[in-house]
Amino acid sequence: MSWRPLGVSRRYSSRPSVGDVVAIDHRAWEVTHVIDAIPTAEEEARLNAYRAEYREKHLPYKVSLKRLHGPRHENENSRAEVGYRVPVGAFGAFPQYKDGRVPLCSCHGHPWPCLEAEQQRYAEAELAKAEKALRVLPGCCPACGEVVTHRQKSITFGGPNVSNPLAEGPTYHLRRRCRQGAAEYEEKWVNDEPGRKRSLLTLWCEGTLIVHGDGSGECFGAQGQECPSVYARHRAHVACYYQTHGCGRECSRAGHPGTRLAGRPDDPRAVLR
Ligand SMILES: [Zn+2]
Ligand SMILES: [Zn+2]
Ligand SMILES: [Zn+2]
Ligand SMILES: [Zn+2]
Repeated sequence: MSWRPLGVSRRYSSRPSVGDVVAIDHRAWEVTHVIDAIPTAEEEARLNAYRAEYREKHLPYKVSLKRLHGPRHENENSRAEVGYRVPVGAFGAFPQYKDGRVPLCSCHGHPWPCLEAEQQRYAEAELAKAEKALRVLPGCCPACGEVVTHRQKSITFGGPNVSNPLAEGPTYHLRRRCRQGAAEYEEKWVNDEPGRKRSLLTLWCEGTLIVHGDGSGECFGAQGQECPSVYARHRAHVACYYQTHGCGRECSRAGHPGTRLAGRPDDPRAVLR
């Protein structure tokens, strides 16, 4: 969960100035120092790729911040100061409080929303989800609340309902807007009982999927892990001709589908059979 402080504006690209009050890590800080940093070789290369007028705005820099509001920070020194080096191309790194005014919580006097308020809101959102699950009528898709007809593509999860012990395993539509809900349920469902298998809704491969000229996929897995399915979600996709050694199958670049796989099954459980 990333913190969304109240009362800040995100200034893209520009670096903060001394005296600005910025929001980082559930705390409000005053900017006490800003100096240029020496670009690394990698950063030099990135800078050279920018147009000249942008280059100066994107130079790396170092800032010192002094904490004004919020709890002690683990990296701060005895004067409540922390230092950051901001790399090339870090956009909007320091959301800034307008006029230096910081909205504080009444519970701790910390910048709003404070950590506790956020945790409470998160817990309430989880509770609301659970209550919504309780209200789903039998035969309806928990994601949209509508009836699942026999003609619609759907996925049913067996066993007792993971979100509601009084209900049967749910049936979700497989249409685009219900898939996220189905995937979230599958994630809980596979963790609920050992031996349950993931469908393409949640199957994940750390490897790089290579797509060939005929739209077929190839993956060698990663870190000694076998690829569960070429149709699983992959960390990275690449068209075969981009491999440094070219494509062993000698696929032609003309008419190549790029990274679009052919033959993706409609049914996410097709890979399990
Ligand atoms: Zn508070
Ligand atoms: Zn639905
Ligand atoms: Zn190929
Ligand atoms: Zn794979």
